[in-house]
Amino acid sequence: MSKKILVLPGDGIGPEITAEAVKILNACREAGLDAELEEALVGGAGFDAEGDPLPESTLAKAKAADAILLGAVGGPKWDTLEDLSKRPEKGLLGLRKNLNLFGNLRPALLYPQLAEASTLKPDVVSGLDIMIVRELTGGIYFGQPRGIEERNGERVGFNTYVYAESEIERIGRVAFEMAQKRGKKLCSVDKANVLEVTMLWREVMNRLAPEYPDVELSHMYVDNAAMQLVRAPKQFDVVVTGNMFGDILSDAAAMLTGSIGMLPSASLNERQQGMYEPCHGSAPDIAGQGLANPLATILSVAMMLRYSLGEPTLADRIERAVGKVLDQGLRTADIAYPGTRQVSTSEMGDAVLAAFAEA
Ligand code: NAD
Repeated sequence: MSKKILVLPGDGIGPEITAEAVKILNACREAGLDAELEEALVGGAGFDAEGDPLPESTLAKAKAADAILLGAVGGPKWDTLEDLSKRPEKGLLGLRKNLNLFGNLRPALLYPQLAEASTLKPDVVSGLDIMIVRELTGGIYFGQPRGIEERNGERVGFNTYVYAESEIERIGRVAFEMAQKRGKKLCSVDKANVLEVTMLWREVMNRLAPEYPDVELSHMYVDNAAMQLVRAPKQFDVVVTGNMFGDILSDAAAMLTGSIGMLPSASLNERQQGMYEPCHGSAPDIAGQGLANPLATILSVAMMLRYSLGEPTLADRIERAVGKVLDQGLRTADIAYPGTRQVSTSEMGDAVLAAFAEA
Protein backbone atom coordinates (compact mmCIF):
# COMPACT_ATOMS: atom_id res chain seq x y z
CA MET A 1 0.00 0.00 0.00
CA SER A 2 1.15 3.48 -0.79
CA LYS A 3 2.80 5.26 2.17
CA LYS A 4 1.71 8.74 3.26
CA ILE A 5 4.30 11.43 3.85
CA LEU A 6 3.22 14.74 5.35
CA VAL A 7 5.46 17.72 4.63
CA LEU A 8 5.32 20.59 7.14
CA PRO A 9 7.56 23.40 5.86
CA GLY A 10 6.92 25.71 8.85
CA ASP A 11 8.64 29.08 9.19
CA GLY A 12 11.84 30.98 8.33
CA ILE A 13 14.13 28.83 6.19
CA GLY A 14 11.70 25.89 6.63
CA PRO A 15 9.98 26.29 3.24
CA GLU A 16 13.33 26.69 1.40
CA ILE A 17 14.98 23.61 2.88
CA THR A 18 11.93 21.35 2.67
CA ALA A 19 11.52 22.30 -1.03
CA GLU A 20 14.97 20.81 -1.68
CA ALA A 21 14.16 17.70 0.37
CA VAL A 22 10.91 17.24 -1.57
CA LYS A 23 12.93 17.23 -4.83
CA ILE A 24 14.84 14.22 -3.44
CA LEU A 25 11.65 12.55 -2.21
CA ASN A 26 10.19 12.88 -5.70
CA ALA A 27 13.36 11.37 -7.17
CA CYS A 28 12.91 8.45 -4.72
CA ARG A 29 9.34 8.03 -5.96
CA GLU A 30 10.64 7.87 -9.53
CA ALA A 31 13.13 5.26 -8.30
CA GLY A 32 10.33 3.07 -6.94
CA LEU A 33 9.22 4.52 -3.59
CA ASP A 34 5.46 4.05 -3.38
CA ALA A 35 4.45 7.15 -1.46
CA GLU A 36 2.07 10.11 -1.63
CA LEU A 37 3.11 13.56 -0.43
CA GLU A 38 0.83 16.04 1.24
CA GLU A 39 1.61 19.46 2.71
CA ALA A 40 0.15 21.30 5.73
CA LEU A 41 0.75 24.33 7.93
CA VAL A 42 2.44 24.32 11.32
CA GLY A 43 4.10 26.82 13.68
CA GLY A 44 3.87 30.53 12.90
CA ALA A 45 2.46 29.72 9.46
CA GLY A 46 -0.34 27.75 11.13
CA PHE A 47 -1.01 30.60 13.56
CA ASP A 48 -1.12 33.23 10.78
CA ALA A 49 -3.53 31.22 8.64
CA GLU A 50 -5.75 29.59 11.27
CA GLY A 51 -4.89 31.15 14.64
CA ASP A 52 -3.32 27.89 15.85
CA PRO A 53 0.31 26.65 15.60
CA LEU A 54 -1.07 23.12 15.26
CA PRO A 55 -4.34 23.42 13.29
CA GLU A 56 -6.80 20.53 13.72
CA SER A 57 -6.49 19.64 10.03
CA THR A 58 -2.68 19.41 10.33
CA LEU A 59 -2.89 17.15 13.39
CA ALA A 60 -5.39 14.87 11.62
CA LYS A 61 -3.09 14.58 8.60
CA ALA A 62 -0.10 13.94 10.87
CA LYS A 63 -1.90 11.12 12.65
CA ALA A 64 -2.77 9.51 9.32
CA ALA A 65 0.77 9.81 7.91
CA ASP A 66 3.46 7.11 8.00
CA ALA A 67 6.11 9.79 8.24
CA ILE A 68 6.33 13.56 8.64
CA LEU A 69 9.01 15.84 7.27
CA LEU A 70 9.26 19.07 9.24
CA GLY A 71 11.33 22.13 8.25
CA ALA A 72 11.48 24.36 11.33
CA VAL A 73 9.18 26.60 13.31
CA GLY A 74 9.44 29.96 15.02
CA GLY A 75 10.73 33.47 14.47
CA PRO A 76 10.71 36.99 15.92
CA LYS A 77 7.31 37.75 14.39
CA TRP A 78 5.65 35.44 16.95
CA ASP A 79 8.02 35.92 19.91
CA THR A 80 5.78 38.60 21.40
CA LEU A 81 2.59 36.54 21.38
CA GLU A 82 1.37 36.74 24.97
CA ASP A 83 -0.66 33.53 24.81
CA LEU A 84 2.13 30.96 25.12
CA SER A 85 -0.14 28.23 23.77
CA LYS A 86 -0.15 30.06 20.42
CA ARG A 87 3.65 30.23 20.06
CA PRO A 88 5.03 28.30 17.05
CA GLU A 89 7.04 25.89 19.27
CA LYS A 90 3.74 24.61 20.69
CA GLY A 91 3.00 23.17 17.25
CA LEU A 92 6.12 21.04 17.47
CA LEU A 93 5.53 19.95 21.08
CA GLY A 94 1.89 19.18 20.24
CA LEU A 95 2.96 16.88 17.39
CA ARG A 96 5.49 15.05 19.60
CA LYS A 97 2.93 14.60 22.37
CA ASN A 98 -0.06 13.65 20.22
CA LEU A 99 1.90 11.11 18.19
CA ASN A 100 3.74 9.83 21.29
CA LEU A 101 7.13 10.28 19.61
CA PHE A 102 9.17 9.08 22.58
CA GLY A 103 12.35 7.98 20.80
CA ASN A 104 14.58 10.73 19.48
CA LEU A 105 17.50 9.64 17.31
CA ARG A 106 20.20 12.21 16.71
CA PRO A 107 23.22 11.05 14.78
CA ALA A 108 26.41 13.07 15.07
CA LEU A 109 28.32 12.03 12.00
CA LEU A 110 31.30 13.95 10.73
CA TYR A 111 31.76 13.85 6.99
CA PRO A 112 35.54 13.57 6.47
CA GLN A 113 35.30 16.43 3.96
CA LEU A 114 34.17 18.71 6.82
CA ALA A 115 36.74 17.77 9.48
CA GLU A 116 38.22 21.28 9.23
CA ALA A 117 34.84 22.82 10.14
CA SER A 118 34.85 21.35 13.66
CA THR A 119 36.11 23.40 16.58
CA LEU A 120 38.00 20.29 17.79
CA LYS A 121 41.25 19.07 16.25
CA PRO A 122 40.64 17.00 13.08
CA ASP A 123 42.32 13.89 14.57
CA VAL A 124 39.92 13.99 17.56
CA VAL A 125 36.79 14.13 15.39
CA SER A 126 37.60 12.59 12.00
CA GLY A 127 35.61 9.40 11.60
CA LEU A 128 33.16 10.45 14.31
CA ASP A 129 29.87 8.52 14.07
CA ILE A 130 27.70 8.63 17.22
CA MET A 131 23.98 7.96 17.55
CA ILE A 132 22.34 9.61 20.53
CA VAL A 133 19.04 8.03 21.56
CA ARG A 134 17.14 10.49 23.72
CA GLU A 135 13.88 9.83 25.55
CA LEU A 136 11.62 12.62 24.32
CA THR A 137 8.23 12.54 26.03
CA GLY A 138 9.02 12.00 29.72
CA GLY A 139 11.48 12.93 32.46
CA ILE A 140 11.85 16.29 34.13
CA TYR A 141 10.42 18.29 31.18
CA PHE A 142 7.01 16.70 31.73
CA GLY A 143 6.99 15.49 35.37
CA GLN A 144 4.33 16.69 37.81
CA PRO A 145 4.17 18.53 40.15
CA ARG A 146 5.91 21.53 38.69
CA GLY A 147 5.64 25.25 39.22
CA ILE A 148 6.75 28.34 41.09
CA GLU A 149 5.08 29.05 44.43
CA GLU A 150 5.50 30.94 47.67
CA ARG A 151 6.99 28.96 50.57
CA ASN A 152 8.13 30.44 53.88
CA GLY A 153 8.05 33.98 52.53
CA GLU A 154 10.01 33.39 49.33
CA ARG A 155 9.31 32.04 45.84
CA VAL A 156 10.37 28.47 45.14
CA GLY A 157 10.61 26.86 41.71
CA PHE A 158 10.28 23.10 41.37
CA ASN A 159 10.08 20.32 38.79
CA THR A 160 9.77 16.57 39.09
CA TYR A 161 12.18 14.14 37.50
CA VAL A 162 10.16 10.96 37.03
CA TYR A 163 10.41 7.87 34.82
CA ALA A 164 8.25 4.74 34.97
CA GLU A 165 9.99 1.43 34.36
CA SER A 166 7.93 0.93 31.17
CA GLU A 167 9.16 4.27 29.77
CA ILE A 168 12.78 3.33 30.47
CA GLU A 169 12.34 -0.11 28.99
CA ARG A 170 10.86 1.06 25.67
CA ILE A 171 13.62 3.63 25.03
CA GLY A 172 16.18 1.05 26.21
CA ARG A 173 14.94 -1.40 23.59
CA VAL A 174 15.18 1.24 20.84
CA ALA A 175 18.79 1.86 21.87
CA PHE A 176 19.82 -1.80 22.15
CA GLU A 177 18.30 -2.53 18.72
CA MET A 178 20.08 0.49 17.28
CA ALA A 179 23.39 -0.75 18.73
CA GLN A 180 22.78 -4.18 17.18
CA LYS A 181 22.53 -2.52 13.75
CA ARG A 182 25.68 -0.41 14.31
CA GLY A 183 28.90 -0.97 16.26
CA LYS A 184 27.27 -3.11 19.02
CA LYS A 185 28.31 -0.74 21.80
CA LEU A 186 25.74 1.02 23.99
CA CYS A 187 26.58 3.58 26.65
CA SER A 188 23.74 4.47 29.02
CA VAL A 189 24.16 7.91 30.56
CA ASP A 190 22.67 8.66 33.98
CA LYS A 191 23.36 10.28 37.34
CA ALA A 192 22.82 7.12 39.36
CA ASN A 193 25.22 8.26 42.10
CA VAL A 194 22.75 11.01 43.09
CA LEU A 195 19.28 10.57 41.56
CA GLU A 196 16.98 7.64 42.41
CA VAL A 197 15.16 7.98 39.11
CA THR A 198 18.38 7.24 37.24
CA MET A 199 19.27 4.42 39.65
CA LEU A 200 16.09 2.80 38.33
CA TRP A 201 17.15 3.76 34.79
CA ARG A 202 20.46 1.91 35.25
CA GLU A 203 18.72 -1.10 36.81
CA VAL A 204 16.33 -1.42 33.85
CA MET A 205 19.17 -1.11 31.29
CA ASN A 206 21.07 -3.88 33.13
CA ARG A 207 17.94 -6.04 33.19
CA LEU A 208 17.51 -5.68 29.39
CA ALA A 209 21.17 -6.38 28.58
CA PRO A 210 21.03 -10.22 28.62
CA GLU A 211 18.35 -10.07 25.89
CA TYR A 212 20.92 -8.41 23.61
CA PRO A 213 24.04 -10.52 24.22
CA ASP A 214 25.79 -9.15 21.12
CA VAL A 215 25.68 -5.59 22.54
CA GLU A 216 28.29 -4.41 25.02
CA LEU A 217 26.51 -2.21 27.59
CA SER A 218 28.39 0.36 29.66
CA HIS A 219 27.22 3.13 32.00
CA MET A 220 28.54 6.64 32.44
CA TYR A 221 27.58 9.53 34.70
CA VAL A 222 26.33 12.51 32.71
CA ASP A 223 29.07 14.89 33.93
CA ASN A 224 31.75 12.46 32.77
CA ALA A 225 29.86 11.89 29.48
CA ALA A 226 29.95 15.64 28.76
CA MET A 227 33.69 15.62 29.37
CA GLN A 228 34.34 12.48 27.31
CA LEU A 229 32.31 13.86 24.38
CA VAL A 230 34.78 16.68 23.90
CA ARG A 231 37.89 14.74 25.05
CA ALA A 232 37.57 11.52 23.05
CA PRO A 233 34.21 11.42 21.25
CA LYS A 234 35.11 8.47 19.02
CA GLN A 235 34.83 6.08 22.01
CA PHE A 236 31.01 6.28 21.64
CA ASP A 237 28.80 4.28 19.29
CA VAL A 238 25.20 4.49 20.61
CA VAL A 239 24.38 6.62 23.66
CA VAL A 240 21.02 6.31 25.43
CA THR A 241 19.80 8.82 27.96
CA GLY A 242 16.79 10.65 29.39
CA ASN A 243 15.14 13.76 28.02
CA MET A 244 17.13 16.54 29.73
CA PHE A 245 20.58 14.92 29.61
CA GLY A 246 19.90 14.01 25.97
CA ASP A 247 18.89 17.56 25.13
CA ILE A 248 22.21 18.90 26.35
CA LEU A 249 24.54 16.11 25.21
CA SER A 250 23.06 15.90 21.71
CA ASP A 251 23.66 19.62 21.14
CA ALA A 252 27.26 19.25 22.28
CA ALA A 253 27.72 16.22 20.02
CA ALA A 254 26.13 18.12 17.15
CA MET A 255 28.69 20.88 17.34
CA LEU A 256 31.56 18.39 17.19
CA THR A 257 30.61 17.96 13.56
CA GLY A 258 31.11 21.61 12.70
CA SER A 259 27.75 22.76 11.40
CA ILE A 260 24.24 22.47 12.64
CA GLY A 261 23.17 22.70 8.99
CA MET A 262 24.34 19.10 8.43
CA LEU A 263 22.48 17.27 11.21
CA PRO A 264 19.25 15.32 10.73
CA SER A 265 17.02 13.80 13.40
CA ALA A 266 14.18 11.34 13.81
CA SER A 267 11.50 11.06 16.49
CA LEU A 268 9.71 7.73 16.54
CA ASN A 269 6.81 6.07 18.32
CA GLU A 270 6.14 2.39 18.95
CA ARG A 271 4.59 1.93 15.48
CA GLN A 272 7.76 3.31 13.82
CA GLN A 273 5.72 6.31 12.71
CA GLY A 274 8.18 9.14 12.72
CA MET A 275 8.76 12.85 12.46
CA TYR A 276 11.97 13.78 10.66
CA GLU A 277 13.55 17.19 10.90
CA PRO A 278 16.88 18.99 10.85
CA CYS A 279 18.35 19.68 14.30
CA HIS A 280 18.52 23.41 13.63
CA GLY A 281 15.80 26.05 13.95
CA SER A 282 14.17 28.40 11.47
CA ALA A 283 17.24 30.67 11.12
CA PRO A 284 15.29 33.90 10.59
CA ASP A 285 18.58 35.77 10.11
CA ILE A 286 19.16 34.08 6.73
CA ALA A 287 15.59 33.22 5.66
CA GLY A 288 14.64 33.99 2.06
CA GLN A 289 18.21 34.62 0.92
CA GLY A 290 19.13 31.24 -0.54
CA LEU A 291 21.83 30.87 2.13
CA ALA A 292 20.37 27.97 4.13
CA ASN A 293 22.03 24.58 4.02
CA PRO A 294 19.40 22.01 2.97
CA LEU A 295 21.58 18.97 3.72
CA ALA A 296 20.28 18.33 7.27
CA THR A 297 16.75 18.18 5.85
CA ILE A 298 17.81 16.00 2.91
CA LEU A 299 19.61 13.66 5.36
CA SER A 300 16.41 13.61 7.45
CA VAL A 301 14.69 12.15 4.37
CA ALA A 302 17.33 9.40 4.36
CA MET A 303 16.49 8.64 8.02
CA MET A 304 12.79 8.58 7.12
CA LEU A 305 13.41 6.04 4.36
CA ARG A 306 15.45 3.89 6.74
CA TYR A 307 13.33 4.00 9.91
CA SER A 308 9.70 4.56 8.80
CA LEU A 309 9.46 3.56 5.15
CA GLY A 310 11.57 0.39 5.06
CA GLU A 311 13.74 1.63 2.17
CA PRO A 312 17.36 1.38 3.41
CA THR A 313 18.76 1.15 -0.12
CA LEU A 314 17.31 4.53 -1.09
CA ALA A 315 18.53 5.94 2.24
CA ASP A 316 22.08 4.77 1.46
CA ARG A 317 21.80 6.32 -2.00
CA ILE A 318 20.89 9.74 -0.57
CA GLU A 319 23.75 9.62 1.92
CA ARG A 320 26.18 8.63 -0.83
CA ALA A 321 24.88 11.51 -2.98
CA VAL A 322 25.50 14.00 -0.15
CA GLY A 323 29.05 12.64 0.28
CA LYS A 324 29.66 13.00 -3.44
CA VAL A 325 28.51 16.62 -3.52
CA LEU A 326 30.84 17.43 -0.62
CA ASP A 327 33.65 15.64 -2.49
CA GLN A 328 32.96 17.95 -5.44
CA GLY A 329 33.74 20.88 -3.11
CA LEU A 330 30.24 22.36 -3.17
CA ARG A 331 29.34 24.18 0.06
CA THR A 332 26.57 26.42 1.36
CA ALA A 333 27.83 29.48 3.24
CA ASP A 334 27.77 27.83 6.69
CA ILE A 335 30.29 25.14 5.69
CA ALA A 336 32.25 27.03 3.04
CA TYR A 337 35.95 27.71 3.45
CA PRO A 338 38.69 28.83 1.02
CA GLY A 339 39.13 26.37 -1.82
CA THR A 340 35.48 25.28 -1.88
CA ARG A 341 32.71 26.56 -4.14
CA GLN A 342 29.87 28.38 -2.42
CA VAL A 343 26.41 27.52 -3.72
CA SER A 344 22.86 28.55 -2.86
CA THR A 345 20.22 26.44 -1.14
CA SER A 346 18.60 25.36 -4.42
CA GLU A 347 21.94 24.80 -6.19
CA MET A 348 22.91 22.45 -3.36
CA GLY A 349 19.58 20.62 -3.65
CA ASP A 350 20.01 20.28 -7.43
CA ALA A 351 23.57 18.98 -7.00
CA VAL A 352 22.38 16.27 -4.57
CA LEU A 353 19.62 15.39 -7.02
CA ALA A 354 22.14 14.97 -9.83
CA ALA A 355 24.44 12.89 -7.61
CA PHE A 356 21.47 10.77 -6.47
CA ALA A 357 20.68 9.93 -10.10
CA GLU A 358 24.18 8.46 -10.45
CA ALA A 359 24.61 7.01 -6.94
P1 NAD B 1 18.72 28.39 14.64
O1 NAD B 1 19.14 26.97 14.61
O2 NAD B 1 17.52 28.76 13.84
O3 NAD B 1 19.94 29.31 14.15
C1 NAD B 1 21.19 29.34 14.83
C2 NAD B 1 22.27 29.82 13.84
O4 NAD B 1 22.53 28.76 12.90
C3 NAD B 1 21.85 31.02 13.01
O5 NAD B 1 22.98 31.83 12.80
C4 NAD B 1 21.39 30.43 11.69
O6 NAD B 1 21.55 31.29 10.59
C5 NAD B 1 22.30 29.20 11.58
N1 NAD B 1 21.62 28.10 10.87
C6 NAD B 1 20.62 27.32 11.34
N2 NAD B 1 20.24 26.45 10.40
C7 NAD B 1 21.01 26.68 9.32
C8 NAD B 1 21.08 26.10 8.02
N3 NAD B 1 20.28 25.09 7.63
N4 NAD B 1 21.98 26.59 7.15
C9 NAD B 1 22.82 27.57 7.52
N5 NAD B 1 22.80 28.16 8.72
C10 NAD B 1 21.90 27.73 9.62
O7 NAD B 1 18.50 28.76 16.17
P2 NAD B 1 17.98 30.12 16.86
O8 NAD B 1 18.53 31.30 16.12
O9 NAD B 1 18.26 29.95 18.28
O10 NAD B 1 16.42 30.09 16.68
C11 NAD B 1 15.70 30.72 15.61
C12 NAD B 1 14.24 30.34 15.69
O11 NAD B 1 14.11 28.92 15.48
C13 NAD B 1 13.60 30.61 17.05
O12 NAD B 1 12.30 31.10 16.84
C14 NAD B 1 13.59 29.26 17.73
O13 NAD B 1 12.54 29.15 18.67
C15 NAD B 1 13.35 28.35 16.56
N6 NAD B 1 13.82 26.96 16.74
C16 NAD B 1 13.06 26.00 16.14
C17 NAD B 1 13.46 24.68 16.21
C18 NAD B 1 12.64 23.66 15.48
O14 NAD B 1 11.77 24.01 14.71
N7 NAD B 1 12.91 22.38 15.67
C19 NAD B 1 14.64 24.34 16.88
C20 NAD B 1 15.42 25.35 17.44
C21 NAD B 1 14.99 26.67 17.36
